[in-house]
Amino acid sequence: CGIVGYVGPRESQPILIAGLSRLEYRGYDSAGIAVIDGDGHLGMRKRAGKLGVLRDDLAEHPLPAGTTGIGHTRWATHGGPTDANAHPHLADDDKLALIHNGIIENFAAIKNELREEGYEFRSETDTEVAAVLLGREYRAHDGDLVAAFRSVVRRLDGAFTLLAMHRDNPGLVVGARRNSPLVIGLGEGENFLASDVAAFVEHTRQALAIGQDEIVAITPGGVEVTDFDGNPVGVEPFEVLWDA
Ligand code: GLU
Repeated sequence: CGIVGYVGPRESQPILIAGLSRLEYRGYDSAGIAVIDGDGHLGMRKRAGKLGVLRDDLAEHPLPAGTTGIGHTRWATHGGPTDANAHPHLADDDKLALIHNGIIENFAAIKNELREEGYEFRSETDTEVAAVLLGREYRAHDGDLVAAFRSVVRRLDGAFTLLAMHRDNPGLVVGARRNSPLVIGLGEGENFLASDVAAFVEHTRQALAIGQDEIVAITPGGVEVTDFDGNPVGVEPFEVLWDA
């Protein structure tokens, strides 16, 4: 139900948790984060319940620090509100993490196809299908995360805001949207993605709106927006005027 992503020089976990807490007003039943640390490890923690449950878990069993990260609050549509069904969902031997708001309507057909190829699933969500498919496409596209992501979103029907990252591409978060919101926050040497500007407005008021059926790749130094076929598209900058 809420999504936030960060790339830059700062430790991402407090930024992600604060961003998610700014999105709490939307309602949710589970929360989770994933981060990539300086050694290229991917750490992930997700819990059913309020953000406080995740926060306490992280305080007791900290994840390694990392400056690339994604965070999610879930409003369950497919699969009950359990730890396993919470996001992020991992794939490619737990090297990539993906989060999703919305509903992937054709998930069952894709899940069957992937099962026949031998892929296994750890949740009942529609979302995990996108994660596993991204793992397969990542290999098929020789580790080009943006190209793999493009091929995934072209297969999906329904409503989605998706963010993903891979530990072999530290400093990169990719996102896409269809019938579901996603905005870019432009910082100095750092960038944000979120379902709502509220998640990053305490860090920057410079925002870019992402259009329907567009993909964005953010790195600490820049943002690139294309359509689902990879053609560059213009973006609309705006300034967030309300008080943080
Ligand atoms: N359909 C997904 C699920 O049930 C995402 C729900 C959401 O928007 O939070 O896990």
